[in-house]
Amino acid sequence: MANKMPDTPLLDQLEDGPWPSFITGLKRLANDEGKQYAPVMKSLLGQLEHSYETRKGYWKGGTVGVLGYGAGIIPRFSEVADKFPESREFHTLRVMPPAGMHYNTKLLRDMCDVWERHGSGLIAFHGQSGDIMFQGADTDHVQSAFNELNEMGFDLGGAGAGVRTSMSCVGAARCEQSCYDESKAMQSVINNVLDDMHRPSLPYKFKAKFSGCANDCVNASHRSDFAVLGTWADDMKVNQEKFKQYVAERGRKEIIDQVINLCPTRALSLNDDDTLDVDNQSCVRCMHCINVLTKALSPGDVKGCTILVGGKRTLKIGDLMGSVVVPFMRLETDEDYEKLSQLAADVLDFFAENALEHERTGEMIERIGLVNFLEGVGLDVDPNMVKHPRTSSYVRMDDWDAEVEKWNKRKQSAAAE
Ligand code: SF4
Repeated sequence: MANKMPDTPLLDQLEDGPWPSFITGLKRLANDEGKQYAPVMKSLLGQLEHSYETRKGYWKGGTVGVLGYGAGIIPRFSEVADKFPESREFHTLRVMPPAGMHYNTKLLRDMCDVWERHGSGLIAFHGQSGDIMFQGADTDHVQSAFNELNEMGFDLGGAGAGVRTSMSCVGAARCEQSCYDESKAMQSVINNVLDDMHRPSLPYKFKAKFSGCANDCVNASHRSDFAVLGTWADDMKVNQEKFKQYVAERGRKEIIDQVINLCPTRALSLNDDDTLDVDNQSCVRCMHCINVLTKALSPGDVKGCTILVGGKRTLKIGDLMGSVVVPFMRLETDEDYEKLSQLAADVLDFFAENALEHERTGEMIERIGLVNFLEGVGLDVDPNMVKHPRTSSYVRMDDWDAEVEKWNKRKQSAAAE
């Protein structure tokens, strides 16, 4: 006999107020009479109401997977299956989204069809992990759902102590500030370490994220172990005519208050004739002035990325921003992207061999010291490796003269190229 819609006085309260509620979505699926998932969703609502009444969660883990993969399925078995039998198994498939999260409507419809055939119909775009979360399959349907999604070109994401699902900002496809090909960078880095995503065997999780500029739309600097942020090495481009138009429209006071005075390094000056001077040596590429005066200012032509390692909030030792380990790397040719992907693999290898159980890269670097980490991954020390912009550059105390010599030589050969 079909189960009935449960009374949910506590859940109903979550539908009050101006914001959309996930309860409304669950009820819509539960009321989808005739669909095979409707009884499951009624049962799920009953269990959720029960959880709110008793203030306890009733999901426990287990072991569910698909052939060839050691991660990507999050098993959920109900501890109150005797009361709510239809939702006794409610596993989640974590599926990696495309870089930049580009979908077309046909693809989204196809995904919905797959999940209506094999699961509960409930999909979250996107979960905290960055994945598309296909929530609510029983054990018998996990493999068949994955097979169909895989045929559409999608793969499972990461879970557990392995490489996790990556993210890149929307990037060059829609953003004029993009300083490299984010999708290409993400694909080359992640494809190179895919084995560590699907068969997790690391001390703890490892995340890589890719932002096309320092606006850092995917929060790479503080939410990833390997953060790639777009930047430029030459001078910022200034269209003086457009800049003058901004001054004419907004007035000198507003430009001074909201742009010139908010530059963190005082790199900007407004001239008497309403043109702008940029001290590019002092600019730290924070993006503020470009964000405010988009039509007049833009990144330079020598584009690439800055690489930071060890960001995470919140760690056992507190919150950490990533430390700059590569101040600037050109990202233009296939070779450049291979170099990036090799560096990511080296950082991952070092992490796999040297981190303690349940220790993220940031904690490992704090424990062993940045000098040892840099030596371990084969990176040369550079005075531009800063911990906090403009305040404390990273300095090593041993063999310093030799490092200075090496750095001077690198600068000279770069200038000669
Ligand atoms: Fe100043 Fe940031 Fe603009 Fe550079 S990008 S000039 S640091 S506001």
